[in-house]
Amino acid sequence: MTARLLDGRPVASHMWRDLSSRVAALAETGAAPPRLAIIIFERGGSSAVYAGGIARAARSVGVEPFEVEPPDGVSLPDLAARIGALNRDPSVAGIVIAQPVAAHLELPRVVELIDPAKDVDGATPLNAGRQARAEAAFVPATALAVMRLLHHYEVPIAGRRAVVVGRSPVVGRPTAELLLSAHASVMLTHRRTRNLARETRRAEILVVAAGSPNLIRAEMVNRSAVVVDCGINVTEQGIVGDVDFEAVRPVVSAISPVPGGVGPVTTMCLIEQTVRSAEALHARAEQDESLGRFAHRSISLE
Ligand code: ADP
Repeated sequence: MTARLLDGRPVASHMWRDLSSRVAALAETGAAPPRLAIIIFERGGSSAVYAGGIARAARSVGVEPFEVEPPDGVSLPDLAARIGALNRDPSVAGIVIAQPVAAHLELPRVVELIDPAKDVDGATPLNAGRQARAEAAFVPATALAVMRLLHHYEVPIAGRRAVVVGRSPVVGRPTAELLLSAHASVMLTHRRTRNLARETRRAEILVVAAGSPNLIRAEMVNRSAVVVDCGINVTEQGIVGDVDFEAVRPVVSAISPVPGGVGPVTTMCLIEQTVRSAEALHARAEQDESLGRFAHRSISLE
C-alpha cells in the first residue's frame, strides 16, 4: 500500500480563501490595506527567493508587501531606528527578516528590534517564550505549517508519539512545542542523537527538519507513521526534502512531498499571522477612536 499524500496545495488554497475574505472585510471598514515589511540585506540568492515568495502570497490576499533594504554596513543603532519606525507605523502589520542578515550583524540582536506584536514569523524571544509556555503567540511559520497540514488531513495528535528530527529555533524546536501543546508526547532528535533510526522508527508522527537530503530512509520509519518533511535542499536533481520520498512512501501511512508539501502552507501561515496582526491593529484603532470620541464628549459636557 502506498501512503496517503499530505499535499500542501489544497491546504494553502483553503487558507488563501479565508485570508482573502478577512482582508476584504478590513477593507470594507475603509481601512488601508495592511502592509508587510520584509527586511532584506542581500540582493539575490536565497533571501530574494524567500522575499519574492512571501511578497507574492501577501499580494494574492490583498496584503501590501514592501522591501526595506538597509544600507551596506548599517550600524545596529541605525537599524534600530529604521525598525522602530516600522514598529510605530500603524499601516505596517508585520515585519519579517529575510535571512541571512549582513555578516557584521548578529541575527538575535536584529530580531530583538522587532515589536513582538508585529513579529509575524515568531522570531522574537518574547514570542518564543510565550510559545514555550503554551500562551498565545506568533510562531515560526514552518512550525505552524506542519500543524496546519496535520489538522487538514485529520491526523490525530493527542496522545501520539511524535519524533522531530532537528532542533533549530526556526523549525524543529517550535514544531516540537506545538506538537506538545497539541498533547503529543514529543522527542526531539538532532546531530548528537545516538542511533537516530531507533528513535525515528518509534514515531507515529515523524517531522523532519534537518537540512540533509535523503536523511530518512525506508528502514528508519514505522509502517503506521505519518511523515512530514520540512527539508528544502537544492540538489542536482532539483529541490528535495530530508526524506527519501520514493523509498519511504511505500512503507508509511502518510507523507508530505517536497516541493508541494509544507512549503506552500508555510508562506500562507506567515500571511495568516500578518492578517491576524492587522485585525488586532484595526480593533485597537477602533477602540482608541471610540475612547477618543467618549473623551471628547465628556469634555464638551463640562
Ligand atoms: P532547519 O532550518 O531546517 O531547521 P538547520 O540547519 O537550522 O535546519 O538545523 C538542522 C538541525 O537538524 C540541527 O538541529 C541538527 O542537529 C539536525 N540534524 C542535521 N543533520 C542531522 C542528522 N544527520 N541527524 C540528526 N539530526 C540532524
